[in-house]
Amino acid sequence: MNPLYQQMETSVFERMSLAAAKHGAVNLGQGFPDFGWSPEILEAAAKAVVEGSNQYAPSRGLPALREAVAAHYGRHQGLDLSAENICVTSGATEALAAAILATVEPGDEVIIFTPAYDAYAPLIRRAGGLPVEVALQPPGWRIERSALEAAISPSTKAIVFNNPHNPTGRLFDRDELGVIAEFAVINELVVISDEVWEHILLDGQAFTPIAALPGMASRTLKCGSAGKIFSLTGWKIGWLAASTELATLAARAHQFLTFASAPNLQAAVAYGLNEGDGWLQPMRDHFARARDRMTAGLEAAGFAVLPSASTYFMCVDLAASGISLDDEAFATQAVAKAGVAVVPLSPFAEQEAPRHLIRLCFAKRDETIDAGVEAMARAR
Ligand code: PMP
Ligand code: GLN
Repeated sequence: MNPLYQQMETSVFERMSLAAAKHGAVNLGQGFPDFGWSPEILEAAAKAVVEGSNQYAPSRGLPALREAVAAHYGRHQGLDLSAENICVTSGATEALAAAILATVEPGDEVIIFTPAYDAYAPLIRRAGGLPVEVALQPPGWRIERSALEAAISPSTKAIVFNNPHNPTGRLFDRDELGVIAEFAVINELVVISDEVWEHILLDGQAFTPIAALPGMASRTLKCGSAGKIFSLTGWKIGWLAASTELATLAARAHQFLTFASAPNLQAAVAYGLNEGDGWLQPMRDHFARARDRMTAGLEAAGFAVLPSASTYFMCVDLAASGISLDDEAFATQAVAKAGVAVVPLSPFAEQEAPRHLIRLCFAKRDETIDAGVEAMARAR
């Protein structure tokens, strides 16, 4: 048996969704919208199924999707990519796995910023590497050069960066990107950049991919997800965008993880990316209104809400809300007694885990937000 998996807990997202189902609670835990966006994309998928796009896709993805992803990033982020630079994966989760397996060797250290998405540390360990945590501090969650310098060692191989950041909702600024890029170039590190939330920008900000900074295109593996772009999280269509050399390496890892992803869903995502970008701003406006509605409701119920500029998520400071329970205890009693599932932040770090913060998903219909806020008020 592999002790890594013997010692591992069930992912907090699965744990909270199972608890929500068990208790019939409003699920503000795991990040998924309870509505869809584009009926045309659903129709494109149904059409692809009926028309027979049902056998193995090429391992690196349908050419039409690889071209659509490259063009999309050219249009939105000024990246100079072609199909050669793209490898389609089964969600960004597999993109992360392929990127980490392709670049991390046994004994390598990999810097992650905590609170960190829960997949990073186990994937780094599975590759034989050691995750090295740089703890960001609330409420600013800023990346400081001095913290990176303290984390580096001769064994450091890579940084796993996540921007915009889950669970905090932080969009890192140009200065912070510059610090990471400079640090990566000077120390010759690979940067695995998890940018799945790149389009969920709630206050009119622009997103800069780290690959666009000087010296970064050749050392960055960017991970993206159609699940987030189109609010179709269950489809699990994602991709890696990288230099031809890095994309080819990651594609070798990918071919023995899943080999290929559902061709009909790939065709529908390609259709969606090529359809035009008119839906983007309405989507952002919708999520911004949802965030504001949830914030207002929670504040009226006496909760201290931390600012969020991106993702589907906001954090609540339990201690500043006058609640003495820690995050896990609050989450356990909120789902069982008050009927609302939330995500505690302590599973997002091993060393300096915040124990007074919970994460809530606001990507919900108004009725769901209102029912969730009412239940939160009962959980106090
Ligand atoms: N990275 C981050 C930061 C995420 O938030 C998520 C999902 N919410 C993923 C990766 C996984 O994406 P996917 O569902 O496409 O595998
Ligand atoms: N990424 C989603 C979240 O942060 C959940 C993904 C999952 O369940 N693995 O809630």
